[in-house]
Amino acid sequence: MSDIENVVIIGSGCAGWTSAIYAGRANLKPVVITGKMPGGLLTTTSIVENYPGFPGGVDGNQLMSDLQKQAEKFGTQTRYGGLVEKTDFSKTPFELTVDGEIIRSRTIIIAVGAGHRHLGFESEAKLEMKGVTYCATCDGPLPCFRNKPLVVVGGGDSACEEANYLTRFGSVVHLIHRRDQLRASKIMAERTLANPKIKPVWDSVVEDILDVSKDMVTGVKLKNLKTGQQSTLDCAGVFVAIGHVPNTQMFKGQLEMNEAGYLHVQHPTTRTSIPGVFACGDCVDHIYRQAVTAAGTGCAAAIDAERYIAATKA
Ligand code: NAP
Repeated sequence: MSDIENVVIIGSGCAGWTSAIYAGRANLKPVVITGKMPGGLLTTTSIVENYPGFPGGVDGNQLMSDLQKQAEKFGTQTRYGGLVEKTDFSKTPFELTVDGEIIRSRTIIIAVGAGHRHLGFESEAKLEMKGVTYCATCDGPLPCFRNKPLVVVGGGDSACEEANYLTRFGSVVHLIHRRDQLRASKIMAERTLANPKIKPVWDSVVEDILDVSKDMVTGVKLKNLKTGQQSTLDCAGVFVAIGHVPNTQMFKGQLEMNEAGYLHVQHPTTRTSIPGVFACGDCVDHIYRQAVTAAGTGCAAAIDAERYIAATKA
């Protein structure tokens, strides 16, 4: 590592690695701080069917590992598991504190992505990893879920993908959605509704997860939003797939963001409210949130950073 880096990229999802490939090829020797989840959310998915160039689909983990290899081939320095504790964008070079060490850089690319949204109950937190999970690919094959009724919460592509995957393991998968129409893409919605092992529960929300006193998931308490009727559904696992929250809390007060925490950039560029700090991927995008759009904005961020360095002789 140098005294002053050219580009430090925070985050190692599709956006982060793509910006590293471009910054590397521009000879900027970028540093990628992977964070505690190298590869980002795509590593928790199974087959990605809509990333261009892969007619047979591509495994999420494989895609991320190939992107990393490609970035490293062009001189990217990877800082594994690095956690950014503090950022100071008030002076240049910018300063980041990573695992207690200060790193200085001419430019910063923020590609921190988004994390899973939680339902927000006390029982959800207490039963996490004891039947409550946010990743069917990671946890679905566990013995505790085999041939047992399972619950998936949500109506988007993630919920449908999880529900379909879980039919391999559970006896039945109840898909709890707060409306009577899925938000998922048409092809995914049709596949889900055609699966005989998936039982949609429409217009309903989970009000509580049982049973904290037994230290394991035994069921959920449901409420039908149209009729107000409450009921209990037995299940061994609750897979929460209700969207994402951008991982931008650490930039609050330093960078402009909207109420939900998505960073503000000067579209169509990736410039944030501080010159020299760029942002890309899911921490900016609350509309498309696709692997390919994240990769696209990652590319743009690297080009923006390269031009900023050239223009300012930073
Ligand atoms: P999403 O599209 O935002 O869907 C979130 C779902 O959760 C919605 O159905 C929403 O209900 C529901 N929801 C939100 N908050 C809730 C709450 N507090 N209680 C109950 N339900 C709640 O999120 P996503 O499914 O994670 O997808 C994110 C993006 O990734 C999308 O662009 C999606 O297309 C993409 N994606 C693609 C694939 C694929 O192509 N293979 C796979 C996964 C994700 P409402 O519908 O009522 O708002």
